[in-house]
Amino acid sequence: AKGAGRGTTCFFEPGMEAKLRQRSLLEHDLRLALESDQLSLAFQPLYACGTRDVTAVEALVRWQHPTRGALPPTEFIPVAEESGLIQPLGRWVLERACTAALRWPRPYNVAVNLSPAQFRHGRLPEIVAEVLERTGLPAGRLEIEVTEGLLIDDADGALAVIRALKRQGVRIALDDFGTGYSSLGYLRRFPFDKIKIDKSFVQALEADPGARAIVDAILAMGRSLNLQVTAEGVETEQQFRFLQRLACDEAQGFLLGRPMTAERLQELLLANSGG
Ligand code: C2E
Ligand code: CA
Ligand code: CA
Ligand code: CA
Repeated sequence: AKGAGRGTTCFFEPGMEAKLRQRSLLEHDLRLALESDQLSLAFQPLYACGTRDVTAVEALVRWQHPTRGALPPTEFIPVAEESGLIQPLGRWVLERACTAALRWPRPYNVAVNLSPAQFRHGRLPEIVAEVLERTGLPAGRLEIEVTEGLLIDDADGALAVIRALKRQGVRIALDDFGTGYSSLGYLRRFPFDKIKIDKSFVQALEADPGARAIVDAILAMGRSLNLQVTAEGVETEQQFRFLQRLACDEAQGFLLGRPMTAERLQELLLANSGG
């Protein structure tokens, strides 16, 4: 859509041009942000449903924009993907997350979100290997979270990259499970270690028996395919109890722990590890 810019304004819907201008401003600002330390990571723990102990921690990118304040990743990740900035941004996140994980009091896994665009880069397995080597994080502690979007365009290419990552010992989780298109055939084809049930199902657990049936079916499927299952977006004790009763493996959500700073996480982990 980019190259179509100036001169073809007449084809745009009203407001379109302003949106494009907004987007290229954001791209410009994001480029600066990467160079000037405006990005940071928030950390949100994952918990074992049975014991409520921390099992892993997900890294979530944050941007403190100099004039617009905190911008949500849902606003700037798409800009990063379209501009190619996702490559340096993604590498920065990976490196920071792995470094942070080495400071935790116990060897919890660290989960990092990767965009489909990062898989299309071609050198992703080498980049991950480099980061693991440079930081010293054991590969088995890194969980890469991917979405079904990855499987749409070039499923074979994605599979090759995922296999290369798995050979290094990295774990792969399928995020936002249940929201994409056909989710079943490739569960068999792709060597995922974990699926994360999308929060829309979790949040419907109390009110909607249909959501309970779906979550129950996903858990049964996870067990028979030997996949770990995490429920995300757990906000109430009742949702958490449902998940415990259904013998879900892991849960994540505001009820259990919000995304937090590295310092706050460290305190929580120290308390959690009984130290
Ligand atoms: P996600 O990977 O599905 O991450 C979960 C999102 O849900 C996070 O939003 C988190 O703050 C939020 N969340 C956690 N618990 C709850 C809850 O109980 N209730 C509700 N309503 N929300 C909850 P966040 O941090 O704004 O991230 C949004 C999305 O942006 C992420 O969704 C992920 O797709 C993307 N993202 C975040 N960080 C990165 C990154 O470093 N790289 C890439 N490529 N994408 C990222
Ligand atoms: Ca550009
Ligand atoms: Ca995620
Ligand atoms: Ca998710």
